Amino acid sequence: MNTRYIFVTGGVTSSLGKGIISASLAKLLQARGLSVTIQKLDPYINIDPDTLNPYEHGECYVTVDGAVTDLDLGHYERFLGESTTQANNVTTGRIYQSVIDKERRGDYLGKTVQVVPHITDEIKRHIKILGNTKKYDVVITEIGGTVGDIESLPYVEAVRQLKWELGNETLCIHLTYVPYLAASHELKTKPTQHSVKSLLQSGVQPDVLVLRAEHDLSEDLRRKVALFCNVEKDAVIQCIDAPTIYEVPLLMHKEGLDAVVMRKLGIPNTKEPDMAEWLSFLERCENPKREVKIALVGKYVELPDAYKSILESFVHAGASNEVKVDLRLIQSENVTAENVADLLGGMKGILVAPGFGGRGIEGKIEAVRYARENNIPFFGICLGMQCAVIEFARNVLGYADANSTEFNPRSEHKVVDLMESQKNISGMGGTMRLGAYPCEIEPGTLAEQVYGERLIQERHRHRYEFNNDYLAEFEKHGMKASGFNPDTKLVEIVEIPSHRFFIASQFHPELQSSVLRPHKLFVSFVKAAMEW
Ligand code: GLN
Repeated sequence: MNTRYIFVTGGVTSSLGKGIISASLAKLLQARGLSVTIQKLDPYINIDPDTLNPYEHGECYVTVDGAVTDLDLGHYERFLGESTTQANNVTTGRIYQSVIDKERRGDYLGKTVQVVPHITDEIKRHIKILGNTKKYDVVITEIGGTVGDIESLPYVEAVRQLKWELGNETLCIHLTYVPYLAASHELKTKPTQHSVKSLLQSGVQPDVLVLRAEHDLSEDLRRKVALFCNVEKDAVIQCIDAPTIYEVPLLMHKEGLDAVVMRKLGIPNTKEPDMAEWLSFLERCENPKREVKIALVGKYVELPDAYKSILESFVHAGASNEVKVDLRLIQSENVTAENVADLLGGMKGILVAPGFGGRGIEGKIEAVRYARENNIPFFGICLGMQCAVIEFARNVLGYADANSTEFNPRSEHKVVDLMESQKNISGMGGTMRLGAYPCEIEPGTLAEQVYGERLIQERHRHRYEFNNDYLAEFEKHGMKASGFNPDTKLVEIVEIPSHRFFIASQFHPELQSSVLRPHKLFVSFVKAAMEW
C-alpha cells in the first residue's frame, strides 16, 4: 500500500490539543493493524527547542537519536509505544538552514531562492521522508500554530501542493473550537466557519473537521458546519473535553474518526481496532485502590508542561500499581532547612526534578537531605541526581562547599563537573550529551532489582556528570554507583543501599515510559512510596 499522508491543522485558537488528536488517531489506526508514525512541523525559527526556556515551550523531549524536540513527540511515543527520531520534528529554522546550505553549495544552479518553491519543496521533502524511508502505511503530520498565522503559510502551501500531487492518498483534518456562550446558552460555529475560510483561501479544503467543545454538538449544528464548510456530515466530529487524555482515542473511535479517515483514504476497513490493553490501562487509571502522595520538587512548578513526561510517567506507574499518584508540585526556591519538614512532611515519596541553572538548587538539596535522613523513598532525575550527589558530599562526606561546576566553578569540591567532551564547546544549541546511551547495571543493586536486567538504554540531556575522582570516597561512605556507561565509565545511576529506596539517574527515564510499557523506575518508586 502506498503511504497515506494525513495533515492535522488547527484553527480559532492554539492549545486545542492537535497533538492529542493526532496521537489518538494514530493509536486507533495502529490498533487496526497499520504502521503509523506522527510528525510535528513547528513554524518557529529556532533549529529546535534546545535553547528555549521551559516557560516558552514546556518540556524539551529528547529522542533516541538525540534530537531535542517538541513535547508533542512525547505524546506520540506514549500513545504508540514506538520511538520517534529527528525526522519526526522539523522546524522552520531547520528548513531554512538546509535550504541556505544548499544555496551555498550551489545546488540551485544560479536560480533565485524563494519561499515558493524552494522552502515549500524542502517542507514537502521532510514530510515525505518518513513515508519514503521507513515505509509507514500512514504518516500523520501535525502543523504547529494556527491557520492564518504568517509563519504557518509555507506549511499550508506545502499541504496544498501535496494534496494536489498525491490526491486521495492525502487527507486534511482541521481542528477548531466551538465556544459556548453561557448568556444565550448557545454553541457558536462562526469561528469554525472563518477558520475554514482562511484555510480555503490558501487552497486547502479540509476533509474532516474535529470540533473541540465543552458541550455536545446537536445534529443540526453538525449539519450546518458541514454545509458551510463543504465537509460531509459524518466527517464533522465532536471532541468533548475528556477526564484524561488517554480517553481521547476511545472518544474519537466512538465518534467514528478512524472509520471516516480509513474510508476517505481508501484503506479497506475490515476489523475494529484492538484496544483491549488500552482499556485495561484506563480501567486501572479510573479505579485506583488508593492514593499516594508524592512530591515533585522543581523550579518550573507554575508551568506543569515543563515536567510533562514526568507527570505522565506517574500516571502510567500509578495505573500499573492500581493507585492514584497525588503529585504535589513543590517550588524548590521556597524549600529551606526550616520549612522542609512542613513542606514535605506528609509525602510518601520525593522526586527531585531535572533542570538547568542555579535557581532553586539549595531547596532541592534540602529536599534530598530530608528524604535521605528520614528514609523517605527518593528518586532523582538528572539535575536531581546531581543534587543528591552534592547533598551527600556536603552532609555525609563533610565537604561544606561541595557543588557542581555549573553553580559554583570556584568550589574546591566539584563533585559534579563538566564532562571532558563538553570542555571545548562554546555553542549552546544541540551541544549537550543527547539521546540514548547504554548503561551497565552493577549486580546486587537496587537498580538491578528494578530493571531485572544488566544492560539498559536510556536517554540523556545534560552537560555535567558525577566526578569520578570522588567515586571511591562516596562508595566507602554509603552512596553506591550502580550504573555506568560501559564505554566512558560515566556514572549513570547512584543509590544508597542502607536507605529504604534512594535512587537517582543521570538519564531521563520519563522519556521512555508509555501507556502500555510504564517505566520500571517509576513503577518501583511508586510501589516503594505505597509500601512505606
Ligand atoms: N543542568 C544539569 C546538566 O546540564 C542537569 C540537566 C538536566 O537536568 N537535564 O548537567
